Amino acid sequence: MKIIQKRKECIGCGNCVDFAPHFWKMDETDGLASLIGAIKVNGFHILEIDEDPLEENKLAASVCPVKVIKVEMN
Ligand code: SF4
Repeated sequence: MKIIQKRKECIGCGNCVDFAPHFWKMDETDGLASLIGAIKVNGFHILEIDEDPLEENKLAASVCPVKVIKVEMN
């Protein structure tokens, strides 16, 4: 599974950090959320995950007000 964040459209609300703090952190340099350990491809941050943190990250995606987080099955 993959978490994908379209980071340039993040508005820095912090909801993803509140709901999935092991995966997300606020970046102090630009005030936007970063997906910890993600690779960066064309403005997207992408992280492969196992099944265990799936629900936590689905929740993070659901509370993102601008819907820039997607969880995709491989
Ligand atoms: S919930 Fe969405 S808009 Fe808010 S900080 Fe996380 S990625 Fe950015």
